[in-house]
Amino acid sequence: MTPNILVVGSGFSGAVLAHQLACNMDCQIDIWEEKSHIAGNCFTERDRKTDIMVHRYGPHIFNTDKKEIWDFVNGFIQLQPFAHKVKAIYNGQVYSLPVTLHTINQFFKKTYSPAEAKAFIESLANKSISEPQNFEEQALKFIGHDLYKAFFYSYTKKQWGCEPSELPASILKRLPVRFNYDDSYYNNSLVGIPKEGYTEFVQKLLDRQNIHLTLNRKFLPEDDYSSYSHIFFTGPLDAFFNYKFGRLGYRTVTFEPFYFEGDFQGTAVINYCDESVKYTRITEHKHFTPWEKHEKTICFKEYSKETSGSDIPFYPKRLAADKKLLSLYRREAEKLQNVSFLGRLATYRYMDMHHVIDEALHFADKFKDAFIKNLKR
Ligand code: UDP
Repeated sequence: MTPNILVVGSGFSGAVLAHQLACNMDCQIDIWEEKSHIAGNCFTERDRKTDIMVHRYGPHIFNTDKKEIWDFVNGFIQLQPFAHKVKAIYNGQVYSLPVTLHTINQFFKKTYSPAEAKAFIESLANKSISEPQNFEEQALKFIGHDLYKAFFYSYTKKQWGCEPSELPASILKRLPVRFNYDDSYYNNSLVGIPKEGYTEFVQKLLDRQNIHLTLNRKFLPEDDYSSYSHIFFTGPLDAFFNYKFGRLGYRTVTFEPFYFEGDFQGTAVINYCDESVKYTRITEHKHFTPWEKHEKTICFKEYSKETSGSDIPFYPKRLAADKKLLSLYRREAEKLQNVSFLGRLATYRYMDMHHVIDEALHFADKFKDAFIKNLKR
């Protein structure tokens, strides 16, 4: 029997999974997307006034160390290698982020060599912390109090709406500390921006005869889904269960766009680390496509807040209370044989685009193998 599959969500998770199943199995796939467009929070489109490719849901820079993931994306679209460098403004000065030898020397007004800077930072680090239990301990152990207070404490409070000591250490582990002048934002060796945006990637993934996309269609947990042999759900895990144990904490992000003649800030992303500045960062989109020429510019000021009502969830908070709730929802999810949960929202994890693609490819393989095994029985 040809399986009838429902995929909820057309972000990277849903689209990669649907594509793989559609190519490798004899099946029919419905995709329901509650937004009016595909590609989830990776959605990009050209701004009407300037023709600049805009990342509507904030800056997305594709980065991975896995050549096979890079090649997978490049099989559909052209990823243009991109050097992502982030500046941070603190107390009236511009610094490089992540923390590099330049940041350290500039901040402490020194001319340290790599070895001297390393020894100096180690002397500042809090040695009583052996296994950091949270974001703050992670910072105090690896960069010491002063750099933490300057670049991380206030930014993180603005971004996450709580004390950094309440947040998991893993959030800070995303950012390297380097005792050299390499100011690339990521440690991953493959970094790129799609030449024509991320939406084109998802369009191409979904362009299969056995994939049927419906936009503006919300998944309602109370409806009857018995006509589907399997559901792949990529929306928020708590929403799938109608929030019966309560809501998982998410931060949402709002953007204040503005136009400018010429070049506003000279780079794609500048972070604002002072508490007095209410936004977290400004993104100037045209710097993501340096191969294009634009006279005008469009920038987004980014503000973070707690989700409420129909706000779009961006960042899973994963506070202690959220983790308790998460284990209740996970237990419910494990009981469902014909539903799989994948992606940032459905697994409630802080995943990057390459993680999401990797996971979706594995899910598709696993599902196909299980299906074939079943047929042979
Ligand atoms: N962060 C910070 N100051 C900065 C940049 C990042 O404190 O200038 C912290 C903040 O808590 C943020 C985390 O590091 O949430 C991860 O940063 P990343 O740039 O990876 O965040 P994303 O681009 O996913 O929002």
